[in-house]
Amino acid sequence: MSPSPLSLTSQLIELPGVGPRRAKQLAALGLTNIGKLVAHLPVRHEWHEPTRSIADLAEGEQGSAVGEVTSTRMAGRFPKQRFQAKLADESGSIDLVWFNGSYLRKHIQPGLWLRVQGRVATYNHHLQMANPAFDVLAEEADAGARDEALGRRLVPVYPAGEGLKSRAIADAISAALPDALPLIDDHLPEAFRKHRGLPALRDAYRMEHAPVDEEEVAVSRRRLAYDELLMLQLGVQLRRAELRQEGRAIALRADQELHERILSRLPFQPTPGQLAAMAELAADLGQDTPANRLIQGDVGSGKTMVAAYAMLMAVATGHQAAIMAPTEILAEQHERSLRAMLKRADVRVAMLTGALSTTERQGVLAEIAIGHADIVVGTHALLTETVKFNGLALAIIDEQHRFGVHQRAALRDKAGETIPHTLVMTATPIPRTVAISVLGDLDVTTIGDMPPGRKPVHTEHIPGATRAWAYERLREHACKGGLGFVVAPAIGDSTQQLELSTTDDAEPGKEPLVGVLDLVEELKAGPLEGLRLGLLHGKMPTAAREAVMERFRNGEVQVLVATTIVEVGVDVQGATCMVVEQADRFGLAQLHQLRGRVGRGGVPDGLRPECLLVAEPTTDIGVQRLKAMTSTNDGFRLAEADFALRGPGELFGSRQSGAIPLRVADLVRDAELLELARRDAQEWVERSPSLGNEEDTILRRRVLRTVGEWLGLADVG
Ligand code: ADP
Ligand code: MG
Repeated sequence: MSPSPLSLTSQLIELPGVGPRRAKQLAALGLTNIGKLVAHLPVRHEWHEPTRSIADLAEGEQGSAVGEVTSTRMAGRFPKQRFQAKLADESGSIDLVWFNGSYLRKHIQPGLWLRVQGRVATYNHHLQMANPAFDVLAEEADAGARDEALGRRLVPVYPAGEGLKSRAIADAISAALPDALPLIDDHLPEAFRKHRGLPALRDAYRMEHAPVDEEEVAVSRRRLAYDELLMLQLGVQLRRAELRQEGRAIALRADQELHERILSRLPFQPTPGQLAAMAELAADLGQDTPANRLIQGDVGSGKTMVAAYAMLMAVATGHQAAIMAPTEILAEQHERSLRAMLKRADVRVAMLTGALSTTERQGVLAEIAIGHADIVVGTHALLTETVKFNGLALAIIDEQHRFGVHQRAALRDKAGETIPHTLVMTATPIPRTVAISVLGDLDVTTIGDMPPGRKPVHTEHIPGATRAWAYERLREHACKGGLGFVVAPAIGDSTQQLELSTTDDAEPGKEPLVGVLDLVEELKAGPLEGLRLGLLHGKMPTAAREAVMERFRNGEVQVLVATTIVEVGVDVQGATCMVVEQADRFGLAQLHQLRGRVGRGGVPDGLRPECLLVAEPTTDIGVQRLKAMTSTNDGFRLAEADFALRGPGELFGSRQSGAIPLRVADLVRDAELLELARRDAQEWVERSPSLGNEEDTILRRRVLRTVGEWLGLADVG
């Protein structure tokens, strides 16, 4: 076709059949050279049925035909006008009619070659198709395109662009393939590919763009999905290596004597799961390689005590430790419990949140900077530039799913000369596939058990009509000495602002959100009359919030009416019952977190911990969520269910997984392929650290290009 050979960086205008206008349209899709064009994948494939001569079409059948438009006209009276065209081939002709088709006048004109599909009828003794689906084959009669359309074949469908049909993209790609395919180098060695049963990259692209059958499409998808997952996993491994080389951490003392001393300070005998986690941590923190560990454990499994253990390891030898929590209320709670644990010791705990006045803040910053503070508790305020640590040995991020992926790096970078050991904790269980993809550079510790004496929280869906009954249950709890939560999605002030996030699929405006300001008045006056109620939401001043939490903890307040500000981390031992209003407005992960606020301590006689979800779900997903909630208390199972239901989006908010750079692979469908890619990536970097081996040059380049920026790899670019 073209006289001078093309390269992968050739401009598209060099392709036969691509003029300046087409090249510009393709460029608008980011397709600026041959390489990019060939890497542009179809969204799906469709069978085009073989076409027959028009004369062979029979009345009553679903048929398709290819022919030239010989005449067109509008018929009938406005507004019931129809557009008619006559389509002819060598054998005969058929009438096409589109009711309300006047817009087609501009598109279908004599001389055009069409492929049509529809039910064949006879009208006035002549064959006719009404409202057929059609495909413009060529502006002018092009024998090649016509012949091609005559056979049954699988055609790729590309996402269309501005003024650019799938067909035009397909044409440009077909023109490029013969020259381009041989130029595509494979980053996977042939022997490895064979072993894994994967086709060569150039064959995979051929099968995407010009498949013989569905089997080929499946084979190429597998190769391309594997590639993406491998790139991601290799990137994660490179990141891991980078973290390890970035600098030295402070190797903390880790011995039996210290272990026992720390345990004697902790408020409980640790569970086997907590002990195992502590042992893994101690081994990590005893090294001068910076630790990067994820502590995973269901809501209520006791991650805080494990975090406290690690922080005490740091302060025992005169170093600093910091813990960052996503909400002020949780930071306050951590501060309280750490202070309680350390009351007899000479350990200074500082607290840094956005709620401090300027003078207070300056005081705290100075304490941190000169090393007066041993333990620093805070919110994301810890990340601001003015915060300077003094010998930070350990940084902990609690409820990490509430933060973005880059927060970890930001906190770590605060240390100065040494790199702190980093520990992230998450109570929202992460489906394994997502954990591997997003947090794969971390070592993982899982706390698989619960503190003794926990009873599963009985969970029930309460339809709106029986809402009163939920409050009767709550009243009974309060009367028998339990504490209760009532949670609603909004504050209910003039702005109707949502607290934190509620689900995105709930259609706002359908039914006004219940706000806690109104709700507390309603409950006081009726359903919970005579009980001592408290109110808690995010717009209250810190002091008022702390006061009501304190009164709730010591039982002066029996029922706390709150927004989802209590969703994460809040730990009130005496809470036994929760009513959630408009529960269908919350995500599954959120509901599970909320439920985790009750049944944390002992339950008075005659009661069981309860979570009552008041809802009139209007969406299918809403119904499924409530079903999942009432059928299991196991956060990991819920996470998997939620993930299968909705993909990773909701679970993490777009903050974390929304941007996982995957086009072909799907974390739900390709879980097995992901495991394979993970193992392969690990072995790969063992053989070729940082992919530094000669033969891995292309691979390394491709890894950096595809996931480097997303993972924040240093030597990208
Ligand atoms: P999470 O893992 O959700 O952060 P927490 O650390 O808040 O859980 O602990 C949940 C509850 O269990 C808290 O009330 C805590 O005091 C209690 N707890 C933690 N560890 C133990 C233990 N080993 N024995 C008894 N209670 C414990
Ligand atoms: Mg917690």
